[in-house]
Amino acid sequence: MSKQAGIGKIGAMVILLLVAVGVWLLVGGEEVKKAVTLKTMEVVGNIAIRSMPDDVAGGFHKIPVEVKALAPDVYQASGIANTHMIVTSEGNVLFDTGIAIQAAQHVRLLKEVSDAPIKYIILSHSHADHIGGAQFWREDDTVLVAHREFAEEQRYLIELTPFQWRRNRILFPWMPEEPATNKLLAYKKVETSVDVDEADYRFILGRTVFEVLSTPGAEGADNISLWLPQKKILFSGDTLGPLFPQFPNVFTMRGEKVRAPIEYINSLNKLIALDIEMLVPSHHSAITGKENIRAGLTLIRDATQYVHDETIKGMNEGKTVYALMAEIKLPPELALTQEHGKVSWAVRSIWDYYATWFHFESTTELYPVPVRDVYAELAQMAGPEALVAKALQHWQNHELMKTLHILEVVLAAEPNNKAALNIRLDTLNALLEEAKAGDDNNYEKDYLRRRIAITEETLAGG
Ligand SMILES: [Zn+2]
Repeated sequence: MSKQAGIGKIGAMVILLLVAVGVWLLVGGEEVKKAVTLKTMEVVGNIAIRSMPDDVAGGFHKIPVEVKALAPDVYQASGIANTHMIVTSEGNVLFDTGIAIQAAQHVRLLKEVSDAPIKYIILSHSHADHIGGAQFWREDDTVLVAHREFAEEQRYLIELTPFQWRRNRILFPWMPEEPATNKLLAYKKVETSVDVDEADYRFILGRTVFEVLSTPGAEGADNISLWLPQKKILFSGDTLGPLFPQFPNVFTMRGEKVRAPIEYINSLNKLIALDIEMLVPSHHSAITGKENIRAGLTLIRDATQYVHDETIKGMNEGKTVYALMAEIKLPPELALTQEHGKVSWAVRSIWDYYATWFHFESTTELYPVPVRDVYAELAQMAGPEALVAKALQHWQNHELMKTLHILEVVLAAEPNNKAALNIRLDTLNALLEEAKAGDDNNYEKDYLRRRIAITEETLAGG
């Protein structure tokens, strides 16, 4: 069975379930409606997650959904992204609400722990995997806290939904063909009650002190963290990314605004100044150990600063962005995993952040006719056989990028050239093996896997 057929079947099941809910909602009262909606969301979510292959998107979907107590009165519901609940004598506070397809399960499991009113919902940032459950939790007088930039981040994410969906489907081909139209699953605007800025935001509930800190940078301009000074617990959302410590993702492949490196360094300095004993990110498990946490935060800050400063230095010395992408590496004392954020892409993003897209390398950069437009002519002049022979030579010398460049010229003239496609397949597989053995960056691996699949389909005549 092809993947397409699988998705079609799953889509049909989801539609049937949603129709069934629609019928239920017509006959039931408010409470019944809510219960049925949540139950259906749970079933729909489980179907969606089972349709995902094992080895994609960093494997987040394989994390079991369960609740554990991280500290007295502090609970975590795990999954693709976590929902956190802090219980007080005057009601509960949530930090992040998970992805819509798992949120109903989070609601059920956390309500079993405490069914007290939800006084505050704090959203770490505007990404879909953190705000999906807010709609199920929010009560009439719940205060919804987010960053001042949250509304702007949501605005452009919503306006660019088709653009980003197409790109995400290249990385994650198991995604449905179109964005969800069902209003419970669709990404949509969340109205906030409190917008946090550099002044941060503090409140006390049931004698627990809550400090909401503005920590923009590595996952967007609207990142906030929650600090519980009495418990010395920091909820970091995605401010530090899914792995700790890791090199930050100041560039994201699906195409979001470039992320601000110096703002991120300032955010890290703010966190280093705290005396954190437990670090609770919104993906994966909590991290403990004061020294360990401080060392990790310092390492991330210093590595980001290093890459930033080296990029600036190279720009001032007149080096090209490509030279700097190849040249700038983390020194051994600043080594960090690049599974999420990749140093060479950060270099390019920092360049773009300061200098945008015109590189003063060629007049043609300024005009809407890319070099690709003359590839077919070049291929005809050189002859496809000569180009394939050249590509093969580069491939044998392990000059993988030169191989791909030459192949792009051939394939512009002859998109089904079997010899060229076979070399491209070998080159992409070699790049994937290199990626796995090197930075092991998840986006790079997902992208290469997709390019390999497309090349195999073209070779098979599909
Ligand atoms: Zn996330």
